[in-house]
Formats: sequence, structure tokens, C-alpha cells
Amino acid sequence: MSPLDSLAAALTQRKQQHLYRSRPLLESAQGARVCVDGKNYHNFCSNDYLGLANHPQVIAAFQQAANDYGVGSGGSHLVCGHSRLHHQLEEELAAFTGRDRVLLFSTGYMANLGIINALVGKQDAVFEDKLNHASLLDGGLLSGAKFQRFLHNDVASLAKKLSASTATRKLIVVDGVFSMDGDCAPLTELAALAQQQNAWLMVDDAHGFGVLGEQGAGCAEHFQLDQQQLPILMATLGKAAGSFGAFVAGSEVLIETLIQFARPYIYTTALPPAVAAASLASLAVIRDDRARRQKLQHLIGHFKQQAQAQGIALMPSDTAIQPLLIGDSAKALAISQALAAQGFMVGAIRPPTVPNNTARLRITLTADHSEQHINDLVVALAQIMAELC
Ligand SMILES: *Cc1c(COP(=O)(O)O)cnc(C)c1O
Repeated sequence: MSPLDSLAAALTQRKQQHLYRSRPLLESAQGARVCVDGKNYHNFCSNDYLGLANHPQVIAAFQQAANDYGVGSGGSHLVCGHSRLHHQLEEELAAFTGRDRVLLFSTGYMANLGIINALVGKQDAVFEDKLNHASLLDGGLLSGAKFQRFLHNDVASLAKKLSASTATRKLIVVDGVFSMDGDCAPLTELAALAQQQNAWLMVDDAHGFGVLGEQGAGCAEHFQLDQQQLPILMATLGKAAGSFGAFVAGSEVLIETLIQFARPYIYTTALPPAVAAASLASLAVIRDDRARRQKLQHLIGHFKQQAQAQGIALMPSDTAIQPLLIGDSAKALAISQALAAQGFMVGAIRPPTVPNNTARLRITLTADHSEQHINDLVVALAQIMAELC
């Protein structure tokens, strides 16, 4: 078989397994209503939890900064791409998260590869929850450290592995809010275990930043964990912040280590300064507009209540990520397609994004939804499930 034939065979196999991916073509701004491939939908699959991706203040900040700074950053942070706006965003994020310093990364994926690889190597061990985001798993595998996965949210399973380890440095890595499940890591217990075992704790708060905690500072605020208890706090700016990029917050030594040794930080072009300006504006909205967070919280409760009333069994989540476990990939895809035919966008998440036989509909809520949108979705879902399941 020629190399191309073998690629084509792998694609065919993926289709037969109902695991083939395609890209819906978005023809509008992000929001509760979107236009995709020429048709309007109620959008229940974005990570724009607070509706900031298309917020007037955020857009205005982006436009103003493009006028002042142009588009491209022109270089990496260490050469000549680190602008005043990047710097200001780092300082404001440090104050917001209650950490000494912050370092911006161009994406969350790169941040996770960079952080883990700068902190651990061959003599060390990394301990990851089985359901961690792909970027954390890839970071751990790439580091060359002994890579161990523990059972999801199972502190006892982790404790056993930690005490058996003779590694020089031990790094525990978890999602704060699990991206395909919506549940939170038991961070209070994990932080205590890390201290007891002299291990580091790193949390990826991609789905908590902006939405969890009174101020929206994320899981560290929600669980009241300071820099000593949670020394490596990573989050992204492309989800609730509605912008793009990522950051890590922690001690002076951590941040300087990353500047010196994190290759995905060093060898890449800095984000456009206007993107940093947009993130600064969304940070201001996150801080000042508490009503958005409260509305989202209210809608989450409303959705759960409506689903329960219709006999739809959800996974145990109190966050904006409300997955509905289906199991079979073909069935999850069929339900997602039937929802689309009724004007609802809901992603069918299938392996390898989730473990085998746990395909699911990943329903996400945003502050821009209304109770009526949610009621309509739940009614459609109940009817489709009755037909297809
Ligand atoms: C989205 C996501 C990332 C990747 O962030 P990007 O900025 O999109 O690269 C990392 N971790 C988790 C948990 C995520 O959900």
C-alpha cells in the first residue's frame, strides 16, 4: 500500500467508526444565536460562557489597540514582541488571581506543553487525572518524566502512586473543571495531599476562569487556595474571557523558570497586542459585571431543573458544561444531527476526545441564553431521545 493509500484507509476506517470530524462553517459572530453554513441556530456548544467574544467593550478595546499598535506583534516576547499591553495584562491577571506574577502564552495548548516540560524531566514523575485535557496529557508524555495517570477525581488512587514514587520532583496535574464532563477536581484534598507528599500541584482552569468564584477568578478563588497551596495556576483566555491566549500564574521563581526554559514560550511569536487589549477589556467586564456570572449560574440551575422534569439524566455537573452521556458514537451523532435539524447546535463529542463508549452531547450554556432558549432545547432533546434511544 502506498503511503497515501494507507492514509485514505485510515480516513475510511474513521468514517465507519462514526468518529470522523468535520468543521461547521461559522458565518456570524460568536453568540447565543449563530449562522452556520447559511442556517441560523441556537448555539449550545461554544465555550464563550459569559458572552464576551462579541462584547462591545471588548471589540472597542481590540479596535483601538489595532489602531495604536498595528496587527502583528512582530516577534517573540524575548526579542521584540513583548508590548506594554501584554505586560499590563500580565500585571492585572496577577493581581486578579492573587499571585506574584503571570506569564502570557499564545495558546493554552502551548502553555501546558511549556509549563510541564520546563518543570519536569527524566528524573521526575508527573501524575495526571485520566480525564485531563489532551494538552496536559501531551505535555506530560513529551516531558520524559515518568508518566502516571490516576483514576478520575480519585485522591486515594493518586496518594498510592505518589507514596510509591521515588522521583526527584513530583508534579500533580489536573483540570480545575473537566472540559468534557463539567465536574470540578477535588482541589482542597489535592492541595493537602501535594503538601503532604512534597509534590507540586498544577491546575488547568480553562473552564473555571471567569465563571467560578465570587469575583470570577476561577477555581483558586472558589476553593480559596493561595499561591502556596496551588503554586501553578494555568488558565486560558479563549473561553469565558471571550478572547484568545492563555496564562500561568505563580511565584517569581516559577515565572522566571518558564521565561528561561519553556520552549513553546520562547520560540513563538507573541500574541497580537490588540488581543491582549481585548483580554484586558474582558477582564474588566469579568471583574465589574457580576450580573453576567449570576445569570449564567441561574441558567445552569434552570437547565438542570428542566432536564430533570423531562426525565433527561445529566452527568453530575454544576458548571456551564452540561454533558449528556450517550455511549454509542453513532447514536450521539444522530442526536446531534436531529437537534441541528430543529435549529440547535450541540456537539457530539466522541473518542478519542473522550474514553471509548462514552460519546456524549456536550451542552454548554452561556450568559447570553434565555430561559426560553433552554426550555426549547430541552423539549427538542426529550422528543429526539424518545425517538432515537
Ligand atoms: C481549551 C483548553 C485548552 C487549550 O487552550 P487553547 O488556548 O484553546 O489552546 C487547554 N486546557 C483545557 C482544559 C481546555 O479546555
